[in-house]
Amino acid sequence: MENGAKYQMNPFASSVMVGFVVALGGPVVAQALPDAAMSCAGPKVQGGFLICSLPADASTYTLVSSTGMKVEISGEHPALIPFGRNADLQVSLTVEGQPDIPPTRFTLEAGAWAIERIDGLPPSKVTPRTPEQQQKVAADWTKKQTAWSHRAPASWFADGFVEPVVASRTSGVYGSQRILNGTPRNPHLGLDFAAPTGTKIIAPATAKVVLAEPDMYFEGGLLVLDHGAGVMSVMLHLSRIDVRVGEQVEQGQTIGAVGMTGRATGPHLHWGIKVRDTYINPRLVLDFSN
Ligand SMILES: [Zn+2]
Repeated sequence: MENGAKYQMNPFASSVMVGFVVALGGPVVAQALPDAAMSCAGPKVQGGFLICSLPADASTYTLVSSTGMKVEISGEHPALIPFGRNADLQVSLTVEGQPDIPPTRFTLEAGAWAIERIDGLPPSKVTPRTPEQQQKVAADWTKKQTAWSHRAPASWFADGFVEPVVASRTSGVYGSQRILNGTPRNPHLGLDFAAPTGTKIIAPATAKVVLAEPDMYFEGGLLVLDHGAGVMSVMLHLSRIDVRVGEQVEQGQTIGAVGMTGRATGPHLHWGIKVRDTYINPRLVLDFSN
């Protein structure tokens, strides 16, 4: 079932323009982008991102961001440049191998983060204790590394996202400082949707399934979807998984069900969006899609 508003993105009509604008008729620019301009749009804030596009007939370039990201862009495939929760506020973008194109510089807005206390977790789910638990965590880690290295040759992420659980309540937001059983831990880098166990989960955007594991130590039932070029949805605590690794899923397709497997105190879907090594704010992705 198709669900939610169809995404309307015209990067060239955006209010946020950063362009590698090269004057074709100006002073000689030896290796300028032939098509003269790239435009980018997106929330310039910690946890945000830019989606950059080139005209349809452009060739392939590599964008380098001062946040440590290198990403390919072409006329066929837009690029998503992520800004992490703790990203430096001063960002510059350059085009690799094109020294004549001046960097584009801009300033990110600082994020505002909540503090969340979660008590009553079983202590072994905060820090694994036994050798068996630690071995399980290590084996899970290896499986995840394989998934993270996937790069679907597509840019489905640029067609927009819908909420993966319809009619749910947001029970956790991106960026919160978490205090688990009284101890400060890593910040929360996803969005939590509270809903009864068994509530269907739909694909938020078209994707290739790159990990489908019913029983990870922390994550419980875990699904990882590649929306193109390593822009991934990471979905935790599922009670049921309906898809297999290698399968392509369409936006709106049912892919599993909400649960409370792994480290969870109640039934909910944790949805993270991981762009190579950086988690961005799924709420900003949804807002940008509408
Ligand atoms: Zn969560």
